[in-house]
Amino acid sequence: MTTVIDGNEVADRIRSEVTACADRLAEAGVTPGLATVLMSDDGASETYVSMKQRACEETGIEGSHYELSPDDPAEALFDRVETLNADSSVHGILVQMPVPEHVETRRVLRAIDPAKDVDGFHPENVGRLVAGNARYKPCTPHGVQKLLEAADVDPEGKDAVVVGRSDIVGKPMANLLLQKQPGGNATVTVCHSRTEDLAAKTRQADIVVAAAGVPEMVDGSMLSEGVTVIDVGVNRVDVAERSSAGSRTPSDDADTEKGYELVGDVDFESAKEKAGAITPVPGGVGPMTIAMLMYNTVKAASEQEGVAVDL
Ligand code: NDP
Repeated sequence: MTTVIDGNEVADRIRSEVTACADRLAEAGVTPGLATVLMSDDGASETYVSMKQRACEETGIEGSHYELSPDDPAEALFDRVETLNADSSVHGILVQMPVPEHVETRRVLRAIDPAKDVDGFHPENVGRLVAGNARYKPCTPHGVQKLLEAADVDPEGKDAVVVGRSDIVGKPMANLLLQKQPGGNATVTVCHSRTEDLAAKTRQADIVVAAAGVPEMVDGSMLSEGVTVIDVGVNRVDVAERSSAGSRTPSDDADTEKGYELVGDVDFESAKEKAGAITPVPGGVGPMTIAMLMYNTVKAASEQEGVAVDL
């Protein structure tokens, strides 16, 4: 019997915990504040930022939002970040990526005060994560850890394979699974586009985290019986192409009406035949990312204001 891990349910629980912490901070006269900065007219980035702002409203966090034109000079963004760094009502700062080409991404990550870097991408925070002393765990991999915990899957002593080595998902995921801490203690293999015989690696895994951005690349034939499969991938695929290729009937949701469907990096149906537990797409890792951003923001407010909360 395969457990389908319900990310919406786990994310709702985390959001309730965050709201309770925000209430506790409010009692002490502190309103946690998250500032988002968008320097793009990309529709997906606009959607992500508005979802983050909505989540703030729902969890008792004061959201503020700043938009710059993608044609503005880089200094306009750095000035904005500096102002937010100095604003004591703002505890967390998030610059929505990607930024335009004329703005150096690494400089943006370095510009944010590490204490307010709720994404956890500042080099100081990356270093702390690797050293096993994380200040803010990056939201998506932290969400994966929470999903494993909710599914009663303890990585300790297990073989974990992470497919993908990006700075925002694959590498921090591998680090978290490796740490000598609860939620870690796995033996970790990190795979990427140059890995030879990926299937041989995933087949020996007890836990597979797929974060490659390649639609349905991990299928049941690449997995062992009883494996836990966490699918981080979010890929838009053309519904018409999928139907003509003989794929399954597309799911009946709003995205299908728009002509595309969201699929993960895992072929859910065949993987489910092998897995002991598996996350769906959508409704798996996706809802966790924003929940963990709210979590990090409340943690930031608690630490900056010296008010203890139960996180
Ligand atoms: P990146 O494109 O930055 O990284 C992809 C990684 O996968 C790279 O390390 C790449 O290898 C590796 N890769 C690509 N193709 C293959 C292959 N055929 N075999 C093995 N490895 C491969 O993506 P992200 O890490 O940013 O995101 C990964 C996926 O997760 C995307 O679908 C993204 O949309 C999704 N995502 C979902 C989130 C959520 O909240 N659910 C949040 C963030 C991302 P190499 O390094 O060699 O190029």
